[in-house]
Amino acid sequence: MLVVMQAHATEEQVRSVCERIESLGLRAHPIPGSNRTAIGITGNSGAIDIGSLEAMPGVIECIPVSKPYKLVSRDAKEENTVVKVSTPAGEVSIGGASLAIIAGPCAIENREQARTVATHVKAAGVPLFRGGAYKPRTSPYSFQGLGEPALKIMADIRDEFGLGIVTEAIDNESLDLVEEYADVIQIGARNMQNFSLLKRAGRASKPILLKRGMSATLDEFLMAAEYILSEGNYRVILCERGVRTFTDHTRNTLDLSVIPAVQIRSHLPILVDPSHGTGRRNKVLPLSRAAVAVGADGLLVEVHHDPDRALSDGAQSIIPDELQLLMAEVRAIATVVHRTLN
Ligand code: PEP
Ligand code: MN
Repeated sequence: MLVVMQAHATEEQVRSVCERIESLGLRAHPIPGSNRTAIGITGNSGAIDIGSLEAMPGVIECIPVSKPYKLVSRDAKEENTVVKVSTPAGEVSIGGASLAIIAGPCAIENREQARTVATHVKAAGVPLFRGGAYKPRTSPYSFQGLGEPALKIMADIRDEFGLGIVTEAIDNESLDLVEEYADVIQIGARNMQNFSLLKRAGRASKPILLKRGMSATLDEFLMAAEYILSEGNYRVILCERGVRTFTDHTRNTLDLSVIPAVQIRSHLPILVDPSHGTGRRNKVLPLSRAAVAVGADGLLVEVHHDPDRALSDGAQSIIPDELQLLMAEVRAIATVVHRTLN
């Protein structure tokens, strides 16, 4: 259910409607828009008595939302959400006119490696540095990440280079720690339907980068995001990272058609990860160009200065020179689709 407020409704009127909703044992989610505020209602198991809400001052109408997701839907908020990420060098917007690029190694392997890659990421003009401290690996014998020491290395990179930090939490315990260190908390593909983790992410104080599960439908993807918003964290960035298909010339099939499909249904920003999406270094640049052309709000790419020796995902990590080239190519394509790249 959505309560649509009049354009000139006062803050007091919005507050009163929220209080009425809460007094019914429901949760109110005020969603300010440029023209009007809408108030999403969650927590109801049955029909809501809309009569009393519609009679309240400042209310235009109550609209039942038939879709399984509400708060992530364009019905709740017409205009695009711009997620602001604070970094030592200032705010980075994800979802606005400017494309957001996140780059870094798959995993933080040691201080030297992380600093080397960060130097190149900074030099390429990328504002956000990624790196895994907790790695959800297919094999228990593969490198699992350094854990908190990696978070400390990233915190130092943040200070030294002025880069914002993006890193993954794989369970509620690691999320507590990641929340302390990171500027954006990543929830990986394998955890897209880890509902207790999604709920915890919904109570986090930092933006969440939610990756699409490798066999998730669009509705399942959006409902995973809905879990986070329904707990009160509205700063969610979606990320398409490829889905499992029958093809074997790439690791996954990057589903670029999901970008416009998401943009019709949801106001949330969406990035593309061409690294996991293809699993092949030589496909990262072509698919980055395509992702920007199709309207993605930015890219998440894996970079390593010595990918042959990387402890994870070397085959899909581009080298620093390729990152420079990627930025130049993406900048050129951005102008065609009326976007910019700072
Ligand atoms: C990653 O970003 O390194 C990662 C593990 O991604 P995904 O969850 O998309 O596989
Ligand atoms: Mn990886």
